[in-house]
Amino acid sequence: MERTVLKALTLGGPGDILAGLESKDLFALALGLTKPWFVSANELDTEHRRLEIAIDFERGAVFECSECGAVGCKAYDTEQRRWRHLNFFQYETILSARVPRVDCNQCGKRLVKVPWAREGSGFTLLFEALIMMMAPHMPVAAIGRIVGEHDTRLWRVIHHYVEDGRAERDDSLVRRVGMDETSSRRGHAYISLFVDMDVPRVLFATEGKDASTVQRFREDLLLHGGHPDAVKEACSDMSAAFINGIGEFLPKASITFDKFHVTKIIGDAVDKTRRAERADYPELKGQRYALLRSPETMNDDQLQFASELLLRKTSMKTARAFHLKLVFQDFYRQPKSLAETFLEKWCRWASRSRIEAMVDAARTIRRHWHGVLRWFTSHLTNGLLEGINSLVQAAKARARGYRTARNLITMVYLIAGKLELNVTHL
Ligand SMILES: [Zn+2]
Repeated sequence: MERTVLKALTLGGPGDILAGLESKDLFALALGLTKPWFVSANELDTEHRRLEIAIDFERGAVFECSECGAVGCKAYDTEQRRWRHLNFFQYETILSARVPRVDCNQCGKRLVKVPWAREGSGFTLLFEALIMMMAPHMPVAAIGRIVGEHDTRLWRVIHHYVEDGRAERDDSLVRRVGMDETSSRRGHAYISLFVDMDVPRVLFATEGKDASTVQRFREDLLLHGGHPDAVKEACSDMSAAFINGIGEFLPKASITFDKFHVTKIIGDAVDKTRRAERADYPELKGQRYALLRSPETMNDDQLQFASELLLRKTSMKTARAFHLKLVFQDFYRQPKSLAETFLEKWCRWASRSRIEAMVDAARTIRRHWHGVLRWFTSHLTNGLLEGINSLVQAAKARARGYRTARNLITMVYLIAGKLELNVTHL
């Protein structure tokens, strides 16, 4: 039986080097076992394509107490344990061992730590490393099919390493934070993301999109050695939830309203105006996207439509609204010293335009005045978050959704948390 395995392992491999080795030694080598541990037996079950490797420890060996680290403890008794290991070729590989319990003077009877697995895990460290290597790149269900394990067991491993990695994170230098929400399921469930804009990395993700998400972020920051009062800049959309949350829980932060969200308010106003006038001007039908674009990105048809619109007599509100939008696009190109005057003039023009949606847009901007202008000082945008968000949405699509928000949040940390994962290297 042993000979079969050795032959299988050396086929196409460096046979000369391995020829002198016993298969037990070979497995000990492959597993990286050191004294007092050794391979006591191995058995190949060809029918079930399974390799069982038994590990034992030398007689009289002494161990560390897993609780207090006291050395020189003798085995008091043992417990039989099993772990799923990386496949040897196509053979599902199981390690088993008598794990000693020591009787520590301080702690009493404690199971010792084995070097190949985490306490309480049914997988070896290398098997877990393989899972963690695949997890950011493919759905967990697919990993489950590859390794032949139920994905619930795999999620347990992933949660462990991600939580462990987050526990070690140091947030003491966090100064500028961006926040945004992303949908967690089709429709109405959301999670909010908080990003360190200087690294960048996701610091925190939590269910919901109300002001309490900022409170939970604050608590998480404190847990990781961060200082909420040291956060001087925050970037968000204009939702009351984030504004109130920042005001209450990040009180020293100046808000910058994200450019994309500010510009979108004007674009939405143009579209609202167009829809209201569609019945009177049939040529406006189907031109939503032309009007949302900026001239640099329009195709020839859209450019022609846009310029005809601008040359019209001003009885058409959509034409005037579009003109207002084009001028607003220059706002973010102003030098800082002229930005406020520019915005003031634009808002006055929009307020007097007699275009209801534009009057509303100007009012919204006036209500958020400082945060809109803050961009000229902070230069913060949520572009980073959009990038992270698209990674998250792609992972979600690959997985065809996550069963729980917790799974999604763990995946967010894994993909965009820049965590130092304490994983054995393959
Ligand atoms: Zn102890």
